[in-house]
Amino acid sequence: MADYSIWVLEYAECNKNPVAGVVYGAHDKGTCRLPYAYVLIKGNGSNAMVDVGYNHSEYGETIANEFGVGNWHSAREILSHAEMTPEDITHIFITHAHYDHMGGIAAFPNATFYIQERELSKWVWAMSLDQRFKMLQAALDPGDILRAVGLAKSGRLVCVQGDRADVLPGIDLHAAYDTHTWGSQYVHIRNDGKDDSEDGWILAGDLVYRFENLEGWDPQNQSYIPIGFYVGSTTNNVLVLDEMSKLVGGEHRRIVPIHEDRLHERFPSRETVDGLRMTEITLADGETSKVA
Ligand SMILES: [Zn+2]
Repeated sequence: MADYSIWVLEYAECNKNPVAGVVYGAHDKGTCRLPYAYVLIKGNGSNAMVDVGYNHSEYGETIANEFGVGNWHSAREILSHAEMTPEDITHIFITHAHYDHMGGIAAFPNATFYIQERELSKWVWAMSLDQRFKMLQAALDPGDILRAVGLAKSGRLVCVQGDRADVLPGIDLHAAYDTHTWGSQYVHIRNDGKDDSEDGWILAGDLVYRFENLEGWDPQNQSYIPIGFYVGSTTNNVLVLDEMSKLVGGEHRRIVPIHEDRLHERFPSRETVDGLRMTEITLADGETSKVA
């Protein structure tokens, strides 16, 4: 019995991202394609997403250009490949406030958004610093923080403090403070509905960028290698990898990195538009494949 279907939907890409930017210390590994994606979760009468991408206009476009990100397509276009519209989305779990995860707020008029309260407050603090602290403001569109406050004003923001179980039946939020960002969180779907799930899936946000973060470079001697870009501590970034790993009984394929170019090697997948992919992580009972 599986309650939820999960798809990873690429909506943009960077074709030459330094591997060292995503895998700690990989300064000799050149560049890689880094897809930009969000996650659609459908089941139990709800349509949820993990993150919403960014809007390729105004400051969102400026940051994207700085990071070499292009081939952007709207959420309306990308979701249509899963027979969904932005208006259909009811719940959105924001893993962190970087522009490419939270910049698309305005496209989803009916959704309630969930974010860690610490993520918002620490970004407001970072925004208050002068330009010498630019490093601490990287990948943020301050307009997104204002848009999140707007959601609060209209009753569509839930500020989460720490872990929260069953935000939807069988879906938990886990805080990961002082890791990739100050108030990152990840999403754990217990797809059999059990507390001690044997069918768990983790949507990792940017706590995992590439398979190497969980498995290392040597398949015979696997080890954790933290991500290559964070404001928290190296230790926290390693420990959260182990925490996620334990939640899924050590089955690393159940921890889904949305920036991973090789997801299609482990899951069914198809091209949607202009070389972007849609990858089917799992299907709920009775749901039909969108990639077959
Ligand atoms: Zn990020």
